[in-house]
Amino acid sequence: MPESVASFVLAIHGGAGVIERDQLSAEDAAAIHADLQAALDAGGKVLANGGSALDAVQTAVVALEESPRFNAGKGAVYTADGAHELDASVMEGHTRRAGAVAGARTVRNPVVLARAVMEHSSHVLLMGEGAERFADTREDIERVDNDWFDTETRHAQLRQEQLREREQAASLKGAYFGTVGAVALDLHGHLAAATSTGGMTNKRFGRVGDSPLIGAGNWADERVAVSGTGWGEFFIRCAVAHDIAARMAYGSATLEAAADAVVMQAVPALGGDGGAIAVDAQGNIALPFNTSGMYRGWIARDGSRGTAIFRD
Ligand code: ASP
Repeated sequence: MPESVASFVLAIHGGAGVIERDQLSAEDAAAIHADLQAALDAGGKVLANGGSALDAVQTAVVALEESPRFNAGKGAVYTADGAHELDASVMEGHTRRAGAVAGARTVRNPVVLARAVMEHSSHVLLMGEGAERFADTREDIERVDNDWFDTETRHAQLRQEQLREREQAASLKGAYFGTVGAVALDLHGHLAAATSTGGMTNKRFGRVGDSPLIGAGNWADERVAVSGTGWGEFFIRCAVAHDIAARMAYGSATLEAAADAVVMQAVPALGGDGGAIAVDAQGNIALPFNTSGMYRGWIARDGSRGTAIFRD
């Protein structure tokens, strides 16, 4: 691991899924690009000032949680009971420290609580009532009523999903997702990943997806940092984030080959879909997705940056 690297790298996502070009208005697309740019600006500033990858991914994810356009924090999807239950995680590569929360209901920025679990508890993952009680002990965790997360768009998605379910339409495959995440390489050569989500529309019975599960929807070690988005059950069964890291560690795969093998082959082979963002210790970025679109943005090691929705 180098003592320092010449430049920093940041990649973010705002979820993968079926995003149809003709159903996304130019206005909405512009607003999404602007929110992705704002998250890149926020995280990029931390890195440019010599801050840690961990601080940068948290900062970028908080910016995305605050946007109602993504399925995390404000704008999170609804459970079958018409409420919001939020999952988030963070992991720091060189220390392998990790923190996560599942089923949080009153925490405005779940990624901040995940970080607090990592730094101020002896545990990795706190769920539901326990996560709320832990949040009660922390003055730095902002609380809101559960309906603060409401948006009309997500409520319409719940109604549509419940209708689909009543009509027993075939599958959730390709349903619109919208989880957020960030991965970063800082000027000290350290990696970190963060992921935050409302989960999947109409989820029930304490369902927990891949996003707060270390190794499934989020991972960072000394080689690579990964954040996933997609149909969480398949991401758990494929241990997506850790599988990408393992292919690099044990099979000497390049970042691109490892990320492609998992996202483009292993997940769809089981019947799942989604995407991932990843950055390695050399500053390479991979942003594969097997859906029609993935909201994403990046600042590359040469300083170039961009945001994108579709494949082109
Ligand atoms: N992976 C998330 C989950 O299953 C959903 C998403 O990525 O939008 O909870």
